[in-house]
Amino acid sequence: MGAKKQEANRRPGRRALLIGAAAVVVGGAALERSGLSRLWWRLPGAQKPRVEGAVDFGGARWVAASPANYRGADRPDDYRIDRVVIHVTQGSFASAVKVFQDPAHGAATHYIVRKDGHVTQMIRELDVAFHAGNRGYNERSVGIEHEGFVDDASSFTDAMYAASARLTARICARYGIPVDREHIIGHVEVPGADHTDPGRHWDWDRYIRLVRAAGPTRT
Ligand SMILES: [Zn+2]
Repeated sequence: MGAKKQEANRRPGRRALLIGAAAVVVGGAALERSGLSRLWWRLPGAQKPRVEGAVDFGGARWVAASPANYRGADRPDDYRIDRVVIHVTQGSFASAVKVFQDPAHGAATHYIVRKDGHVTQMIRELDVAFHAGNRGYNERSVGIEHEGFVDDASSFTDAMYAASARLTARICARYGIPVDREHIIGHVEVPGADHTDPGRHWDWDRYIRLVRAAGPTRT
C-alpha cells in the first residue's frame, strides 16, 4: 500500500509532462492541417478503409466488439499511440468475449489473450477502445486483456506471456513505442483507475524481457 501511495504521489508531475507533450503534438498537427489546402481531409490516411474481419496482428482471430464499447477513429493520425495497457479479465476468456459484444457493458479492449496463447482481436487498433477508464489514456493506448484472475498466479501461463509479448512487441514496433515500464503499463497505473489489474502475480520483469526478445518486428 505504501508503494501504491508513492506511485500516486509521483503521478501528477509525470502526467502533466505527458499531457504537455501531447498538446504540442496536437498543436503541430493542427497547424500542418491548416497550412494545407482546405481539402486536407481527403488526404490519404484521413479516412482509413476498414475491411470486415481484418486484424492488426497476424494469427489473431477477429470477433467484433459492440460498437457501443469503442469509438471509431483514425489512429495514429488523429491520436498518437504511445502506451500499451495490460489488463486481466477476472473471468473466463468466453465471458470476456461475451461482455465485449454486449452494448450495455460500455467497455472492451482491442485484444484478449487466452491461457493457451490464442489471441482474439475485437477492436481495430485505429479505433479508441473504452478500456482504461480514462479518456486520454484510451485515445493514446492499445488495451490487451489476459484471461485469468489477479489473485491466481496460475492464470498467467508461459503460453500467455509468450503470445502477449509477441503482440506487444508488434504494437511497439508499429507505433515506435519504447519497450519499457513507462510505456507498457498495467490498468492499475492509469491515472484515476479504480482497477487493480494485472495485480501482483503479473511478472513485469519477465514480460518486458519477452517483449524485447520478440521485437522489434514490423508488420
Ligand atoms: Zn483492466
